[in-house]
Amino acid sequence: MTQIKNASFLLLLLLIVQACDKKATTNKPEKNNIEYANSSIETMIQNMSIEQKVGQMTQVNIDVISKGEVYKLDVPHEIDSTKLDIALNKYFVGSILNAAGYPFSRKHWKNIITTVQTKAVSEGSKIPVIYGIDAIHGANYTVGATLFPQQIALAATWNPTLVEQAASITAYDVSASGIPWNFSPVLDLARQPLWGRYYETFGEDVHLAKTMGKAFVKGYQGDDPKHPQKVAACLKHYVGYSFPLSGKDRTPAWIPDRMLKEYFLPTFKTAIDEGALSIMVNSGEVNGIPVHASYELLTKVLRDELGFEGIILTDWEDIIKLYKDHHIAANMKEAVLLAINAGVDMSMTPNNYSFNDALIELVKEGSIKESRLDESVRRILIAKEKLGLFETPYPNFDNFPKFGSKEHALQSLQAAREAITLVKNESILPLSTSTKILVTGPGANSLNYINGGWTHTWQGDETKYNTPGKNTIQEALKILSPNVTYMEGSGLDTNINTLETLKEAENHDVIVVCLAEDPAAEGPADINVLDFPEAQQNLVKELHKSGKPIVVVSTTARPRIIREIEPLMNAILLAYLPGDEGGTAIAETIFGLNNPSGKLPFTYPKYQGLNITYDHKHTEKINRFLGQTSSLSEYDAQFKGLVYQWDFGYGLSYSNFKYTELKLDKKSYNQSDTLKIEVTLTNDSDIEGSEVVQAYCSDLVASVTPSVKRLRCFKKIKLNPNESKRVKLHIPVKELAFVGIENKWILESGEFTLSVGDLKTNFSVNE
Ligand code: BGC
Repeated sequence: MTQIKNASFLLLLLLIVQACDKKATTNKPEKNNIEYANSSIETMIQNMSIEQKVGQMTQVNIDVISKGEVYKLDVPHEIDSTKLDIALNKYFVGSILNAAGYPFSRKHWKNIITTVQTKAVSEGSKIPVIYGIDAIHGANYTVGATLFPQQIALAATWNPTLVEQAASITAYDVSASGIPWNFSPVLDLARQPLWGRYYETFGEDVHLAKTMGKAFVKGYQGDDPKHPQKVAACLKHYVGYSFPLSGKDRTPAWIPDRMLKEYFLPTFKTAIDEGALSIMVNSGEVNGIPVHASYELLTKVLRDELGFEGIILTDWEDIIKLYKDHHIAANMKEAVLLAINAGVDMSMTPNNYSFNDALIELVKEGSIKESRLDESVRRILIAKEKLGLFETPYPNFDNFPKFGSKEHALQSLQAAREAITLVKNESILPLSTSTKILVTGPGANSLNYINGGWTHTWQGDETKYNTPGKNTIQEALKILSPNVTYMEGSGLDTNINTLETLKEAENHDVIVVCLAEDPAAEGPADINVLDFPEAQQNLVKELHKSGKPIVVVSTTARPRIIREIEPLMNAILLAYLPGDEGGTAIAETIFGLNNPSGKLPFTYPKYQGLNITYDHKHTEKINRFLGQTSSLSEYDAQFKGLVYQWDFGYGLSYSNFKYTELKLDKKSYNQSDTLKIEVTLTNDSDIEGSEVVQAYCSDLVASVTPSVKRLRCFKKIKLNPNESKRVKLHIPVKELAFVGIENKWILESGEFTLSVGDLKTNFSVNE
């Protein structure tokens, strides 16, 4: 029987290939070809056994097909042909993921992908495997690929065009490794800095994250994901993953419907509308239900409301976790039943075949209908078809001349330059190359600390895989100036030679202190305390005794509390995790070869216990009691001034920008109108620079308490010295909607304030 099925698949495969050849030669209208392909997929499904269908819905880790034991593979990595045979001929797996814990050369990827696909299309189900990888800031599991700044830094560029190019190069490098599927971007919002995956997000704001998410999907998939240099995007982690109450990864989130709809779903909706082919589910629970078992979130919201038609993929072992960790199922079989009924299409099981055994049993005993399998298999085969895998299960590996090229490195450098955010400058920066600089601190001489987690290895903490030729901050400073001395000062949380460094400071004009954070990923990146470790704070305090100006460069995965030492610093550059070119970008910025233009993609907290976002409610202004009662005087003193260190969207420049003549085209708008905004931006300096013009709206009175303001539109503008430009921004009035009392999106009439820079004007929206 299987033999007969195999033969018919071969025939089908040939038909598909012929159909695609026709597409190239007969110029048939695109639509007809798609219909033809889809009907072939239907025939394939009709001819598949239950085992083959379940196999398509299975994703195993590379460990399962490799020599050695799971998590302890032989080094160097090798495919185990017996294990591969079991995967493809016994379990008919449809998908494989990951590297073996370290980056492979392109040559090795070519070998893996060719071995897997050759067997997949000629044996078993005769259907190509869809290989997936976490190339989250460049193809980090391929030797020599271009590494970009992490997502949080890309968000700080506020430049979606640049971000799309970064994603496009990542797609190129992932394709050059023979892999068609990237588990990226992360569309969770960063609203809890203790959470370890903060740096994987585009920050706290919905509009900024939506804009960047859209740019990523465009960069990965292009107009047609079938293009040999494009890959499928995977939006993750749907939904509410970033907002665990405890701040710990994969712990419960409690998110009211209104907040879920207004804050956490829109990023996914925008990326779905952009055509994202797949989505990965949140490993945690939301409101008491693990998302992997939530029919409400996976089917009613994701499929029916958001209109998502692509693959719903589980995260790592998450069906197993339904019974092992969440305790909502007694065993694997019950767990699989819950997940499949909720709407899961593919299970990243990933280290065994327990999913297959359980699902086959459930179908054979009638607990799950075979037609339910068909729905998922159809989505998986359509994604494979859209990626062109039936035509070319492996790419032309020789056709990637720009892999690891200087051109790509320059794009990464530009992204790092534009991310760097100057938050304080007491007329110290930029420095002249004749200034005698002492550079110190744990971040000064480490590529790992400027790259963060998911760099060559999962945790990103191995130095042996670092890309040769990339410069740490102190190396890059020395390339640009002969007057730079480096001393370690302190480690991340231990003193090394702080006092000797203080002594050495006597011989220098300026001290550059590089503060940093341990690279890590997922749960291991969770922290309990946001303050910089004592050793680093102490380094700044000691060096301050020298009386020399201090420039701080901070490369961290999230905002670390800087309140106590900030007054000791004369200039502060936040570089987030700027990637392999980060050292160079930082050095260029210090010497004025790059004029900083990054803006904070989050509200930088001043106190760990005061985690506030820029779009907070009016009642969250802690200093609202100021001056009202004397019994609050201590409280007043503690919170005097701002309750946060720096505001969302904040960032200085070496230029001096001024806003004048803010104008709206009308004073009152109908709901279908678009606000047409004009404002004059002037570069009142002798230095060319870029400014992000940000437009915020405040709903003055609403039936659900409004945020103090919401970002609705932004544009990055480059101006020559002393140049002025009339900048135009558009906001469709419908963008002012919110999730109302009935938990549905509504747009209420009333008064609003528009603010751009330091200017404000009012407008109204009619019934
Ligand atoms: C992470 C995902 C990742 C997956 C595959 C999981 O542990 O949560 O973000 O895509 O592993 O590596």
